[in-house]
Amino acid sequence: MSVSTLTVHVAVHTPAHSAVGELLSYASTHPLAPGTLVRVPLGRRELLGVVWDTPPQPGDMPEGMELRPVSAVLEGIEPLAPAWRRLVAFAAYYYQRSIGEIAVTALPPQLRDMSAEQLARRLKPPRKTKAAAANATTDTVPAAAPEAAETVALSAEQAQVFAQMQEHPGPFLLYGSTGSGKTEVYLRAVQAVLEADPQAQALVMVPEINLTPQLEQRFMARFAPRYGQASVVSMHSGMTNPQRLKSWLAAHTGRARIVLGTRMSVFASLPGLALVVVDEEHDASYKQQEGARYSARDLAIWRARDVGAKVILGSATPSLETWHASRPPAKDDPQGGRYLRLHMPSRIGAASLPRVRLVDMTQQPRKTVFSPPLIAAITERVQRGEQSLVLLNRRGFAPVLFCADCGWKSDCPHCSAHQVFHKADRTLRCHHCGFTRRVPLACPDCGNPDILPLGKGTEQLEEELARLLRNVQRPDSEPARVARIDADTTRAKGALEQQLAQVHAGDVDVLVGTQMVAKGHDFRRITLVAAVQPDGALFSSDYRAPERLFCLLMQAAGRAGRDAQYVAAQASRPEMWIQSYDAQHPVYTALRAHDYPAFAARQLQERREAGLPPFAYQAIVRADARSQQEAQAFLQVAAQAARDARLPHVDEIFLYPPIPMAVQRVANVERAQMLIESAQRPALLRFLWAWQGHLHWIRAQPEHRALVRWLVDVDPLAI
Ligand code: ADP
Ligand code: ZN
Ligand code: ZN
Repeated sequence: MSVSTLTVHVAVHTPAHSAVGELLSYASTHPLAPGTLVRVPLGRRELLGVVWDTPPQPGDMPEGMELRPVSAVLEGIEPLAPAWRRLVAFAAYYYQRSIGEIAVTALPPQLRDMSAEQLARRLKPPRKTKAAAANATTDTVPAAAPEAAETVALSAEQAQVFAQMQEHPGPFLLYGSTGSGKTEVYLRAVQAVLEADPQAQALVMVPEINLTPQLEQRFMARFAPRYGQASVVSMHSGMTNPQRLKSWLAAHTGRARIVLGTRMSVFASLPGLALVVVDEEHDASYKQQEGARYSARDLAIWRARDVGAKVILGSATPSLETWHASRPPAKDDPQGGRYLRLHMPSRIGAASLPRVRLVDMTQQPRKTVFSPPLIAAITERVQRGEQSLVLLNRRGFAPVLFCADCGWKSDCPHCSAHQVFHKADRTLRCHHCGFTRRVPLACPDCGNPDILPLGKGTEQLEEELARLLRNVQRPDSEPARVARIDADTTRAKGALEQQLAQVHAGDVDVLVGTQMVAKGHDFRRITLVAAVQPDGALFSSDYRAPERLFCLLMQAAGRAGRDAQYVAAQASRPEMWIQSYDAQHPVYTALRAHDYPAFAARQLQERREAGLPPFAYQAIVRADARSQQEAQAFLQVAAQAARDARLPHVDEIFLYPPIPMAVQRVANVERAQMLIESAQRPALLRFLWAWQGHLHWIRAQPEHRALVRWLVDVDPLAI
């Protein structure tokens, strides 16, 4: 090796839970700035890596051992900024993963697979200087006057909220009713930061891919005339890899001023980040559910504070964490929360929130799916040419098939779950492992040909509604049209957009769907929303279930009567219908009054008394194994090791006994979990960090050979 070889430390994505440490050392003939993208050898493979700034560890390299050299430097991409590296390092520590995993998975997938030469070709024509790049952006501005962008006059509430955002540092909770015009506030806030600084960038996050097209249109319409088409880019998993690379580069070079994206966009390289918006901040989709289980909302708040950017969290039904963190100062709490809560109670254009109507199902004949008053209400809407939305959070035709003679049920052979009956293609499908088979013609156990569907899914509702409305006509004398949107109807690329377009065009009178259609969409002609079987969530053992149900129903209600002019012209009245066997339940009482604060106060009181988040901090260690016994044994040994080793803060940590997961077996793997709780967040994190080495070590022992994997989930959403 040459005389002047330097050691560089590189973050690479080594296989999860391998014993390979945080950073790997390589040799380089010339200094490489931290943040530089490189390709390095690992075993027989060559991997993408990021040069990191940690000083060499003493004893890193045994004497006389030679470092392998860096294979290539990805020229043409500026090193990732210190702020980005801080974000990655923080996320790695907080969510208990390696820096390399977070760093590399945060980069566009194509970068992982491209050689330095391929990238160089991709980056041609040669990168321009900053000034030239700025000019290039203006080239793409349409010839029309750049000031042509349409801006609406803010409502009084919007104006007040916007003014507060200019005055205070935040973070802000924008607590605004569905249809109160939150998006317009985001647009103004973005405009303000972009105008104030020509380098400034804004990140706007939404929970679901299917919400990005509508948002993209609004942002394009507003900002493309000012800053060019290239100034707005999207980032989500529905894009092709070349598109993702393109968006990523646009953000990284500062050419893109606005990034719209799902949770992954929180890791975008944004050297000019000045504002982060997290729309529908309560949404569970912000939490990654595999690999590094990060919360994009929480990371967004951290990231914004770290670089001095503003952050706006928006919701009509904030998470209880955010609600609590934005509590106003009180006599016994003179500090109040860390966030500033801003309220927009009114809908735009004096539209009223829908009236909530509860149907007491105990008063209906048994097995009623649609109560007569609900069908009458839907019929009326169809006849007036208005649209209705029927919500059921269960796809398929029926959750299980059943033999009344011998008791056989359509259980999945690989999971502790039923296989769902899908009538459209006559299959039984497991929604956990995907195992699919044809519907048997007769009971596999006793031969009874009369096997029955038990319970309802969206397919069945669609069929039932079509039957009930078969003689109902629209104003144009056409028969009522029922359609369904759920994960089954939208599998094909572009299917969802197409189906939503049909709803917007008025080709559909009654839309049956899962939560997929309950959130975010700006439907203009829906005046009735019905939740036909929402009770299930009330019996859940998960303490977050009532919160989730309340949010979902409020969001769903928010799809009704969004267009005040339309509602007035129709002389209609927006309504939210709920069919329940427990119609007096406090969740429904609060919903009827549209009283989120009352609901939240009650829930927070219960959580405080029970010592649950946000008054405590939690993590889960999960173990998957060949047997439930082995899964639990691993957790038990791990807990004992923590006590024996007197890990830091172990006295401030409560380790619950291991228990099976709610769905205990998936794809023939048994799953167990252990809840870990502490009143102090730093104590919990330091404890977990110190514990990791033990978990790796225990896992490597021969007596735990039957363990398939273990993982840590910090701030878990489901227990
Ligand atoms: P939210 O995000 O709070 O549900 P939106 O921002 O989608 O609400 O606004 C609801 C509707 O009201 C949209 O169609 C939007 O174009 C319209 N709107 C918002 N603000 C204004 C305003 N100041 N003047 C007129 N229309 C507005
Ligand atoms: Zn049978
Ligand atoms: Zn299964």
